[in-house]
Amino acid sequence: GPVLAIESSCDETACAILSAEGVCLAQRIVSQDGHADFGGVVPEIAARAHLALLPGLVQATLKDAGLTPQEIGFVAASTGPGLIGGLIVGASFAKGLALSLGKPFVAVNHVEAHALTARLPGLVPGGAAFPYLLLLVSGGHCQCIAVEGVGHYRKLGGTIDDAAGEAFDKVAKMLGLGWPGGPALEKLAQSGNSQAIPLPRPLMGRPGCDFSFSGLKTALSQKLAPYGLEPLPHQFAADLAASFQQAVADVVADRVSNALKMMPEAGLLVAAGGVAANSVLRARLEEVAASAGLRFAAPPLRLCTDNAVMVGWAALETCHEAAERGLPQPDDATVRPRPRWPLEDMAARFAPQES
Ligand code: ATP
Ligand code: MG
Ligand code: FE
Repeated sequence: GPVLAIESSCDETACAILSAEGVCLAQRIVSQDGHADFGGVVPEIAARAHLALLPGLVQATLKDAGLTPQEIGFVAASTGPGLIGGLIVGASFAKGLALSLGKPFVAVNHVEAHALTARLPGLVPGGAAFPYLLLLVSGGHCQCIAVEGVGHYRKLGGTIDDAAGEAFDKVAKMLGLGWPGGPALEKLAQSGNSQAIPLPRPLMGRPGCDFSFSGLKTALSQKLAPYGLEPLPHQFAADLAASFQQAVADVVADRVSNALKMMPEAGLLVAAGGVAANSVLRARLEEVAASAGLRFAAPPLRLCTDNAVMVGWAALETCHEAAERGLPQPDDATVRPRPRWPLEDMAARFAPQES
């Protein structure tokens, strides 16, 4: 039967229902609005909001799909990594629902869900067959991951300080653009000159595919220092935004092209996470993929940022993989949410059972 999936690891509260084949039957998402005044996600506010929103959201999603709760085959939820309060709310709700219906509960790794999104039926022309390289660039993550199969991931590199989205948000804040800053910064950059202000490109040209953004952020703050508390001239702000965006795109392109060299077996480059919405970055990634003779794919924005469709899909892939291997279907009623959950740990799901 269909899967009902819940996402609550950060500040989106989401529910989706997918058919057993992975067709989305209905989905609802609320991007919580109580955080902007604080300039970032406040975990306690997020957890309370998930608790207030989930019952109505789940009911509405079932109604949209035209299904009764009894027609659901199983329930899934993100149980990590993420903000622990929100994860506990979402997972407890999902487990309670599963228990009351007598159906299984499947725990989903949120980053694995991002990693498998490109495999949703119909999303990438020709499909996203394993193995592929995933660039995950969001508010909380910045990693290159070799996606070798369901449950089989290898982190090739990641940020040693800020995530890419975090850097966009902090720079946007310095430019007085509010939060979340990525989209506003991209818009401002359109009227700026990306060559106008020289900025460093941390780690560019170095081996490997780790990332660093804090030096770039510091360099930018030094350019702003002479203005003190005065408002920035519009053109200067636009030039800074464009120059920053260009520096990030240059660095990411360099790192991803190294990652592709570390993974010569990759057949596809996939980008996911909110920053993958950035059109300058997307264009650069397309070039990088093309020069390696690969296709580039990025899910549409609503599936790049946090959503429950990817959670349902990851649960379906997990069940399918277990069946393929002749293993029992997962029932994770006793799995506890966890703020950290490395992708490397996922292979254990499919390891031979010890009795
Ligand atoms: P995570 O998924 O890692 O837990 P998150 O929920 O903050 O974190 P997403 O919702 O995937 O991440 O993405 C939000 C981030 O994407 C924010 O940092 C936002 O500024 C950034 N972002 C969104 N659109 C753009 C854009 N056009 N250009 C640059 N950054 C963007
Ligand atoms: Mg978000
Ligand atoms: Fe996410």
